Amino acid sequence: MSAVGGTGQPSGTPWPASALRDSDGALAVGGTTTTALAAEHGTPAYVLDEGEFRLRARRFADAFGQAFEQVGTGVDVYYAGKALLTKAVARWAREEGLRVDTASGGELAVALAAGVPGAELGLHGNNKSDGELEAALDAGVGRIIVDSLGEIDRLADLAQARGVVAPVMLRVTTGVHAGGHEFIATAHEDQKFGLSVSAGPGGGDSPAVIALLRVLERPSLRLLGIHSHIGSQILDADGFAEAARTVLRLRAHLGIRTGVLVDEVDLGGGYGIAYLPQDSELDPFRVAHEIARAVADACRELGTPLPRISIEPGRAIVGPAGITVYTVGTVKPVVVTSDDGGTFTRLYVSVDGGMSDNIRPALYGAAYHAEIANRRSDAPLALVRVVGKHCESGDIVVDELLLPGDVRPGDLLAVAATGAYGRSMASNYNLLTRPPVIGVLDGASRVLVRRETVDDLLALDQG
Ligand SMILES: *Cc1c(COP(=O)(O)O)cnc(C)c1O
Repeated sequence: MSAVGGTGQPSGTPWPASALRDSDGALAVGGTTTTALAAEHGTPAYVLDEGEFRLRARRFADAFGQAFEQVGTGVDVYYAGKALLTKAVARWAREEGLRVDTASGGELAVALAAGVPGAELGLHGNNKSDGELEAALDAGVGRIIVDSLGEIDRLADLAQARGVVAPVMLRVTTGVHAGGHEFIATAHEDQKFGLSVSAGPGGGDSPAVIALLRVLERPSLRLLGIHSHIGSQILDADGFAEAARTVLRLRAHLGIRTGVLVDEVDLGGGYGIAYLPQDSELDPFRVAHEIARAVADACRELGTPLPRISIEPGRAIVGPAGITVYTVGTVKPVVVTSDDGGTFTRLYVSVDGGMSDNIRPALYGAAYHAEIANRRSDAPLALVRVVGKHCESGDIVVDELLLPGDVRPGDLLAVAATGAYGRSMASNYNLLTRPPVIGVLDGASRVLVRRETVDDLLALDQG
């Protein structure tokens, strides 16, 4: 066995730590080769490394737990289920000491079916239905993150009718947006989530303050805290620290105004990962330490005791734990005219999935790394675009990549870091059946979510 990177590329970082090449050059994850996985489960398939998931979950719990313990408060880490939620995944998260965040009735149902107690669940959403709110109340969900005045009223009425008190957090928008290496801060925001902390027209109360007061007015609601989520694929602590300061100021303001100092502040998710071999990924220990320092400093300046903190990483836990294994079909050289009038050849490599199993390249221009997975090759590298089989020219899996030029039909192609927002955003476009999620650990594989079949599709169609 040797580390991955048999193509001569400087690869390694986007793959799970268990990724190896066996003596035949076949890529293995979690102790099972992709050739064995393809033979047993077919392709395309999402392969999820249980060990990598657990390690990353634990690392977040340890990093934030230690950092905030040092400044004198506690942390709850919620795994953001929208990144990928299956019953097994929810159980792994729980066994590693995490709670689970859900963002719909469907996610809530899967987490509950996995045996996660309602008290350890959160429910998000900017447009929760009455049915979803009722399901959360019935399950005793530990926190419902309310997102509008209308929802506050509806939830209060539903809780009152049931004779229960609903635990809520208010989602606020701090004006901080982060992603990659930078954050930007704007006062007024033009987006659908949360309630702004910026003053209302004429300098009146902000929508966030109005909503907090509304929650406090309703005896059937218990205000747990304030929630902020600033973006995704964030690689440093600055944006989190800035958002934390803003939320802590709001908390102090509400405290002075009403005598209620909320117990908890949630700083959301968005911790970034390496998608490409040259990418760096965020170090949870460093970032946790910096956020804890910022929170402690802000509380000292405001003269308020530290709140309990919660965070909601999704991608950073499950993203690098997953790969997608495809089979190569058509290989087509296309002569392309470049801007300077010259020509070059791009090898279009078509795989047996595409935008239905990974919409991120089409949706966000997301970049991925792939390697031939069934063999080693010393053939000269060719400029490749990996595409899917859908009727859409934007159906791109990897926009630009160097692969051995002898890549051919029947080869397996593995794409790294597809664990987050792959299966969870999958569709049936062109009536493709969605791939299975195969868990791997210590040389064994098992089906976590089975492959859809054409019968599944036909069963939905009532003629
Ligand atoms: C999407 C989301 C997350 C998780 O984001 P990641 O980038 O996967 O860490 C956490 N909290 C909220 C409210 C979200 O919307």
